[in-house]
Amino acid sequence: MKLASRRGKLPPIPTLAMNTKAAELKAQGVDVISFAAGEPDFDTPDHIKEGAIKALRDGQTKYTAVSGIPALRQAICDWVAEHKGVTYTPDEIICTVGGKQSVFNALHVLLEEGDEIVIPAPIWVAYEPVATLAGARVVRVETSEENNFKMTREELAAAMSPRTKLVVINSPCNPSGCVYTRAEIEGIAAEVLAHPSAMVLTDEIYGKLLYDGEEHVSIASLSPEMKARTLLLDGFSKTYAMTGWRMGYTCAPREIVKAMDTLQGQSTSNVTTFAQYGGIAALQGPHDFLDGGRAEHDKRRQAIVEGMNSIDGLSCVMPKGAFYVFPRISNLFGRQGPNGEITDSMDVGVYFLEHAQCAAVPGVGFGDDRYIRFSYATSLENVKEGIERLRAAVSLLG
Ligand code: PLP
Repeated sequence: MKLASRRGKLPPIPTLAMNTKAAELKAQGVDVISFAAGEPDFDTPDHIKEGAIKALRDGQTKYTAVSGIPALRQAICDWVAEHKGVTYTPDEIICTVGGKQSVFNALHVLLEEGDEIVIPAPIWVAYEPVATLAGARVVRVETSEENNFKMTREELAAAMSPRTKLVVINSPCNPSGCVYTRAEIEGIAAEVLAHPSAMVLTDEIYGKLLYDGEEHVSIASLSPEMKARTLLLDGFSKTYAMTGWRMGYTCAPREIVKAMDTLQGQSTSNVTTFAQYGGIAALQGPHDFLDGGRAEHDKRRQAIVEGMNSIDGLSCVMPKGAFYVFPRISNLFGRQGPNGEITDSMDVGVYFLEHAQCAAVPGVGFGDDRYIRFSYATSLENVKEGIERLRAAVSLLG
């Protein structure tokens, strides 16, 4: 049997691969601390579950409109207006099976052969493979640790061309945790507006996870002109601890939403009907639990950064958002482990897993092999224990 060659463009997802390896070791009874998963460590709040349970009991078990029930799309409009300062109408919203489907469908309705997409690196794993599958050329902008892994306006300008169809920004960013300031977002907007065919895909899925008084600025909020050039992606996974519900959404100009609706209609159709009611409960319910979660994450953030920087050979900048740190591990390259010389982030990831029993995700999957991603969405105890395990394991390298 010959599989379609198109699928060869899609690499396996590195974040999932490490999780699988860690799960295998755990199943063998090894006490692995997982810093690999990109999901909150608390359960979905009860009022959200109740929203979905009530919907099930009320018989909300049939198909809905592909883009979601009007009440959910209206709730998204209200939430986005309140939290991001951008006004949308329900026909500018499409609910998708996770933010992931938003990325997949948005890139597929916008990109084709001859188009270019500008993607700053390091960045979350999905954009590049999906853009490549859609036939576009990926123009990667290598950001620097010195600029906290943020793409400058100058770097963007150098990467853009008349063929640029889309520019991706992700603030707060997975994996670096960087957060773009208002001035930086304004600079990117000005550059995009100077290119008539370019649009922005802004992935704001970590927009509620900010520290040190940082401000979340949606590029769509800058002007009506910019809103018309923006696809705003958000979702329920990270903010409301709903990763398993598979709910995300895109806010975009009607024409784009309509095209995404048609594509989605040929694949999954609507997000699970009763889950949509949970989504309404999330958006319209109390949000005070977010402050507690943020304070908890903040303690872990401080502890993990301090811990990483106290280990010889590792260094780590303080992230301003999300729940990831992205320590530099390239100083370990050239050292000897039990499997031979450490040469890249994958070797480091395997060494950390096998000899420190700590699972993390090698930076190569995010576009920078000199780093590794740790999620600190785990207990402070685990963070502290993990640091000590890493310290011991690194000291054993020859
Ligand atoms: N965007 C970013 C930056 C992410 O890190 C993720 C998940 O890890 C997503 C989007 C998609 O999340 P989901 O499909 O669970 O909504």
